[in-house]
Amino acid sequence: MSADTTYEVIAVRYGTRTASKAEVYLNYSTYGEPDEPLRMDYYCWVARNATRTVVIDTGFGPVGGARRRRTTLVPPVAALARLGVDAANVRQVIVTHAHYDHIGNLAAFPAAEVIIARREFDFWTGPYARRQQFAWSTEAAELAYLSDIDRQGRLTAVADAAYRVAPGIDLLTVGGHTPGQVIVLVAVAGGGQAVLASDAVHYYEEIERDRPFAFVADLEAMYRGFDLLKEIIGEPGRLLVPGHDPEVMGRFAPLAGAPTGLAVRVG
Ligand SMILES: [Zn+2]
Repeated sequence: MSADTTYEVIAVRYGTRTASKAEVYLNYSTYGEPDEPLRMDYYCWVARNATRTVVIDTGFGPVGGARRRRTTLVPPVAALARLGVDAANVRQVIVTHAHYDHIGNLAAFPAAEVIIARREFDFWTGPYARRQQFAWSTEAAELAYLSDIDRQGRLTAVADAAYRVAPGIDLLTVGGHTPGQVIVLVAVAGGGQAVLASDAVHYYEEIERDRPFAFVADLEAMYRGFDLLKEIIGEPGRLLVPGHDPEVMGRFAPLAGAPTGLAVRVG
């Protein structure tokens, strides 16, 4: 593949907190194991080459983060700036799902086409989004802003299960965690592919031990998403990047030139 259809893929760690396994895994008591602390890190991702920069999720905003007592290490937009990504000039943002820690800061991307699954947009602008078990993971103002983006004509709501954002960047809608959760597949140099699972899989352990996450819209779809991801990463050259695992920072090499601990290069 040519340089225009492969990308440098970066995971940017902008926040953190200490959670516990019982908080993170659905019905953890069914596994008969003691609870223990589990760090949860917060990321956004960048896919870029000489002609295109795509930002995948925009992190939590100051209000959404503070309300849930999350630790901001570097505000996401500032973190991107340190990597040479100017939010104001980004032309494409993929929203993997509409939870507060993935769509905060969208207002800092006024020039971007925002790409989201149709099912995700319809759900969060529909009546059930306001019920507590769904609403807790969102900020009303941020969901309203998604509708603003739609009115501005900048929203692309993807109806098909598979969608090509750009040559070498593909979305698959899997649902499960949220009604329209997507994963993002990005071609990298050397014939490989970064598999940005976002919250289809928060932790490597989640897929390795087949343990669904505590917050789930459709459990069957979540398990189906695990199966699909296992199939995808079973192929050579596939690099799985879960949405919240601190291990991502250790499995991949630090991004050259980036501040220590801020970013790794997936491919
Ligand atoms: Zn998340």
